[in-house]
Amino acid sequence: MARYYCPYCNPKYQFQKQSSKGNLICGLCGEDLVKKPFIRLNQIIALVAASSLLLPLIYTFIFLIKNQLNPPNKNYQANGTLMIIIKETIS
Ligand SMILES: [Zn+2]
Repeated sequence: MARYYCPYCNPKYQFQKQSSKGNLICGLCGEDLVKKPFIRLNQIIALVAASSLLLPLIYTFIFLIKNQLNPPNKNYQANGTLMIIIKETIS
């Protein structure tokens, strides 16, 4: 369902009217109504720009928290036990 809006008037007080030609016009100013798209291209661009700025920040933040929760030397221990398991399976 396509919604129509007037680009010049306040959306709160807009009402649609049908002109003598048969197309929808704004009841306040008489301008032709514009079809409102579901997702505007501007919104997509803004979202991409915002995410490209925020994602690295969030990623580094998560990485810092992870490092604080389990320090890197614990990971080495995990790798050591893994190496032992691998060695046992080989021999
Ligand atoms: Zn209007």
